[in-house]
Amino acid sequence: MALALPQAINAHTRITYAPTESAFSVETNEDAQQVTLRIYDDGMGGAPTKTVKMTRSQSGGTLWQATVKGDLNGKFYTFDVKYDGKFRGECAGVWATAVGVNGKRGAVIDMSKTNPQGWETDVRPNIPAQDLIIYELHHRDFSIDKSSGIEHKGKFLALTEPRAIQHLKDLGVNAVHILPSFDYASVDETRLGDQQYNWGYDPVNYNVPEGSYSTDPYKPEVRINEFKQMVQALHKAGIKVILDVVYNHTWNIDGSNFQLTRPDYYYRKNADGSYSNGSGCGNETASEREGMRRFMIESVKYWVEEYHIDGFRFDLMGVHDIETMNAIRTALPQDIFIYGEGWSAGSCAIPNEQLGMKANISQMRGIAAFSDEMRDALRGPWDSDSKAAFLGGVKGNEESIKFGIVGAIDHPGVKYDKVNYSQAPYANEPTQMIAYVSCHDDMCLVDRLKASIPGIGDDELIRLDLLAQTVVMTSQGVPFMLSGEEMLRNKKGVHNSFNSPDEVNHLDWSNLERYPQVMEYYKNLIAMRKAHPAFHMGSADMVRRNLEFLPSKVCLVAYHINGRQVPGETWGDIYVAFNGLNRTRSIDVPNGKYKIVCYKTECKPEGGIYLEVTNGKVNVPPQSALILHN
Ligand code: CA
Repeated sequence: MALALPQAINAHTRITYAPTESAFSVETNEDAQQVTLRIYDDGMGGAPTKTVKMTRSQSGGTLWQATVKGDLNGKFYTFDVKYDGKFRGECAGVWATAVGVNGKRGAVIDMSKTNPQGWETDVRPNIPAQDLIIYELHHRDFSIDKSSGIEHKGKFLALTEPRAIQHLKDLGVNAVHILPSFDYASVDETRLGDQQYNWGYDPVNYNVPEGSYSTDPYKPEVRINEFKQMVQALHKAGIKVILDVVYNHTWNIDGSNFQLTRPDYYYRKNADGSYSNGSGCGNETASEREGMRRFMIESVKYWVEEYHIDGFRFDLMGVHDIETMNAIRTALPQDIFIYGEGWSAGSCAIPNEQLGMKANISQMRGIAAFSDEMRDALRGPWDSDSKAAFLGGVKGNEESIKFGIVGAIDHPGVKYDKVNYSQAPYANEPTQMIAYVSCHDDMCLVDRLKASIPGIGDDELIRLDLLAQTVVMTSQGVPFMLSGEEMLRNKKGVHNSFNSPDEVNHLDWSNLERYPQVMEYYKNLIAMRKAHPAFHMGSADMVRRNLEFLPSKVCLVAYHINGRQVPGETWGDIYVAFNGLNRTRSIDVPNGKYKIVCYKTECKPEGGIYLEVTNGKVNVPPQSALILHN
């Protein structure tokens, strides 16, 4: 007798475990001829202890099932599907929720036993989208260096340790975006003693945590339990956990769980029969197909239900179709924050108009996209590391920065024809734009400033670094920062550090003592944003009504917010100015008494210096931000 499939998840094929029997199912194409299920004692090696011929649920159907009697807890399994008289090879199937080492075999475990103590009371912190401050982190970068003082270096458990949690709380970020943390291919989990590094954009098992970030990748329950401990510790600190998801491509085609079970179903092809490569990684998945769309929806729902994940960052969202992204939005609770890269890395096999591109964000309510307009207007264009922009005193970037300040919405003060990549606003609401100046991709901020401004010294570097993050942290979009920028991180000038050694990617925590003013400024800047709703109004109408730009000059962008009209705001008139040139400039403000809270390399939202303006002008120091209010 076969066990019924779980009710909540229509036809997908997770295995179900019970102490008396376990039920397996797998989806295939209609022309599959036979499916063999094998049971093993170990996650790799050894002969199967049982081989079972699976039963087609109906003639010509795509679902195959088998029930195996006995307690299979701790056993491993594979599927092998036959097409055209040939078995394609053993794999864990697309729906494994537990696997052995390197994800080669699925594992049967009692999921209810993987919960850490107190898991039943774990809840997602309640933080509306406009209040989020996102910190993008790679597990290994964050804790691997000796200077971190963290015990579980490079592991999920690092983020349960007081040293890590306290640092995040001190900084004030309230969401941690973890780089791919599902099971990926490029780090060999059997050789964890060797130094291996990868960002992890090479998915193998989408619904299982990565083994190399666990303390024992051979025991399937360990990575699951440790991942949950991480989520629980961050939630206790009021910090959300956002998962970087990479449904747009798989590590390879021939060996993927998709291809071994349903050949050519999950991938897009070109008219000539070749595989389309919109991901730039050799393949692209077909989200518009019912089975792939359902897979993505059920996968994100699973992470929310089983792991209490708070949000998703979609890698190359521009490869997925709009309809699928909207279906995902609808399927997830409203507080789950969704954003992605609104572009692809090559041309896709379906038209751009149907894809989750940044330009189509207005058709995807409740979903945000990264703004490369603001990023590149600050640091310089993505295709040339040596080219500077606003931060390097290059004129012509002012309107693109204004575009980022308002959160990519339609605002009467922005001249869209002068914005670098988008000649029109794309967001309905400012929370649909991610504001940032650096992420794991490309050079980090310090390296980029060094590469684009020849001869830059430490003082100038710090001034510009703080200026850049002030633009980000005062944007009406959702601010996002790369982990380690608060430690003046560098990657030794490496642009694409996806597999660079630890010496390149690690955070050097001793920089906190070397450059204490940087952490201090970031901390205060973030505290200011949090305390002042004027910097994150959350609604396009409010931003249009209450934020007004002052006339721009070369490398000088300034605006006024009428804080009196912003609910909860304690400041009245707020003036913000960004000066990208290496000389003092001035902005026009009405005469009266003000308090300066952000000046040169100091940000003191609770303190500040009183200033009496009598000539209608205030000076903005070189290469810095100025914020004052009355
Ligand atoms: Ca792996």
